[in-house]
Amino acid sequence: MALAALSFGALLASTGCISPRGGSAWAALLRQAPPAAFPIPVDGVSPARLINSWGNRRGGGRRHQGIDIMAPRGTPIRSTTEGIIETKGMRGLGGLVVTVIGPGGYRHYYAHLEDVAAQVIGEWVHAGEIIGYVGNSGNAAASSPHLHYGVYTPGGKAVNPYPYLRTGASFNFSRAAIEAPAPAVEPAAAGPTAP
Ligand SMILES: [Zn+2]
Repeated sequence: MALAALSFGALLASTGCISPRGGSAWAALLRQAPPAAFPIPVDGVSPARLINSWGNRRGGGRRHQGIDIMAPRGTPIRSTTEGIIETKGMRGLGGLVVTVIGPGGYRHYYAHLEDVAAQVIGEWVHAGEIIGYVGNSGNAAASSPHLHYGVYTPGGKAVNPYPYLRTGASFNFSRAAIEAPAPAVEPAAAGPTAP
């Protein structure tokens, strides 16, 4: 699985990527307000099982800029929002990662994956669409499989996703719900801020 993922990443790198930016769908995405709550992106994990590991000390003086959601290797990971696949492939400490630019231009970072789904960079994803599978790639190699989930403002500031996940918003996997048009709302003057 890991080898296949590596090969796919190499393929993307060799062919270049499709720019996710530009076009009316992109502009509409950026105009949307970021959601007030996110569904938990890992199948089978309830809000009560989430641990707020935001801000924990990491090596090299770093602080944990996200939360880790423990789950068995291979558990499906779903995009918490609609958006556009921005990056996908091997990225340093994160190992095999997928990033999605979602409503309001917020960046959603999914790391330590075992494998990725079939989307290509620049492709639109719906909320609830499978984008990868839980693993322990990158600097999680000595840890149990988990998803590292991070959320960043358009300016690159990390936001703690825990409060947004803890509210327990759940995916409705019916196709109609997933494909329902997003409400036409203007972005708030200020998006979510890190607590
Ligand atoms: Zn983490």
